[in-house]
Amino acid sequence: MRDFSLNHECLSINTATVRKSNGMDLPLPKIIEACVERGIGAISPWRDQVTAAGLSVVSKLVKSHGLKLSGYCRGGMFPAVDSQATQAAELDNRMAVDEACELNAQCLVLVVGGLPGALDGKAAHKDIARSRHQVHDGIAQLLSYAKSCHMPLAIEPLHPMYAADRACINTLEQALDVCDALDPDQSGALGVAVDVYHVWWDPKLQQQIERAGKSRLLAFHVCDWLTPTTDMLNDRGMMGDGVIDIPKIRGWVEAQGFSGFSEVEIFSTGNWWQRDHSHVLDTCIARHKSFV
Ligand code: ZN
Repeated sequence: MRDFSLNHECLSINTATVRKSNGMDLPLPKIIEACVERGIGAISPWRDQVTAAGLSVVSKLVKSHGLKLSGYCRGGMFPAVDSQATQAAELDNRMAVDEACELNAQCLVLVVGGLPGALDGKAAHKDIARSRHQVHDGIAQLLSYAKSCHMPLAIEPLHPMYAADRACINTLEQALDVCDALDPDQSGALGVAVDVYHVWWDPKLQQQIERAGKSRLLAFHVCDWLTPTTDMLNDRGMMGDGVIDIPKIRGWVEAQGFSGFSEVEIFSTGNWWQRDHSHVLDTCIARHKSFV
């Protein structure tokens, strides 16, 4: 297992972690600047942040600073109510692949979607099996395009509390079943993003990480699970402040040969987004050394 206490060369910052500084929106170019100042060598930006700053601007910044992208967030949201909405999702996902290519991302992260309409508070139906079929078909479609662009797709299983509105793939086992069905040769074109926040509780976690193996382990996301958690989406903890044994999970992932970045991804309306981003990034570096 790699020794993270020595430096932070394996640290990546998911830019949602500092999307706000002192409660105010922080533009992506400022985030990049602050990361570069601290010798952080990788980021994983969100599409809305890239769109706001302009894809070509971000692309130039990333290239001029020699920054790597541990991932690009995100594609997915496949389930739809009709063929028109299905097509719109397909088109949008192809655009996400194109953007990920332009930014030279290591993978496009997929948050696959749940019941259509649920994210807006009005689910169109209650048939989660139907959504799962649509996810399977949507990934199959997108995979052929992503393969032609040489952009790996990383399915991110989300904690079951998001099954209705964000992702009906909720365990690593489910994600790997899709990988095995659509990419039986383990070509590296399709894999998983292991986010400790979503999967730490899973009794099959170690077994499924071993099943994934190096070729399917495309990304590793870290933060912590707070007790109590006060918000289902935006109350993620800083590493070391919660109950996840992150080094243990990293050990399992690295035992498979994973040698990528450990990406800090924290959504925190009430705490970290209220602080100054300089302090947040410095804390990420310190906690990466001692709690990841
Ligand atoms: Zn994640």
